[in-house]
Amino acid sequence: MLLEVANVEVGYGDATALWDVSVSVKQGEIVSVVGPNGAGKSTLVNAIAGILRPRKGKIVIEGNDVSKVPSHRVCDYGIAIVPEGRRLFTEMTVLDNLLLGAYRSAARADRDATLAEVFKLFPVLKDRQDSLAGSLSGGQQQMVAIGRGLMAKPRILLMDEPSLGLSPLIVGDMFKIIQMINERGVAVLLVEQNVNKALEIAHQAYVFEQGRVTASGLPQVLINDPSIREAYLGI
Ligand code: ATP
Repeated sequence: MLLEVANVEVGYGDATALWDVSVSVKQGEIVSVVGPNGAGKSTLVNAIAGILRPRKGKIVIEGNDVSKVPSHRVCDYGIAIVPEGRRLFTEMTVLDNLLLGAYRSAARADRDATLAEVFKLFPVLKDRQDSLAGSLSGGQQQMVAIGRGLMAKPRILLMDEPSLGLSPLIVGDMFKIIQMINERGVAVLLVEQNVNKALEIAHQAYVFEQGRVTASGLPQVLINDPSIREAYLGI
């Protein structure tokens, strides 16, 4: 097991945003977490990233309990985050944004080789490496955010709503890119509001509602569940 979120409760002040949530990701998997606005998906990402502390339960990465590890050290355990809204340094070049991802000493040693791999995955970023990140299209900026995550050489990539704000055409490309990354041996925990696409590419999936896991399992099974089809797929 690469990542295990076990019976986690997370809150903001007096409000509880996640109740008894358990999610696991195995080596080589794409695991999708889907659900409506406010279901707690970003809260889950922030708890795994060490930005929010669980009140109960634990978060284990490859056997190491990281529930109390400070957020700037969580990446040492082989996890990288592609945050919601990309959070690029728009006044810095594409190349500098990418290199920021390789600040971990383990990643720094292989920086040039990893950069070459990122450029192979996103040839457009090689062409635009000297442009300011803020001058790129939305889809290209999302590629920079993903590329920056990959520069950390993670074994697991956490992606928070990578398709948000992208045109429908580019959204399809984004999901193909996620599959390509996964095929290169990186496990992916994908948090998405695009339920259809997220279930299509996943090996395992979880449905979140109001801070709880309300369904989980094989995406083919969830996609054929009448209540999920009605609630999320409009069928
Ligand atoms: P979205 O797709 O809109 O980001 P989400 O599924 O990621 O939705 P969260 O953002 O995790 O959901 O929100 C879960 C719950 O926690 C919501 O009820 C939300 O109002 C609450 N919440 C989120 N962030 C905060 C915060 N900083 N302070 C207080 N409550 C918060």
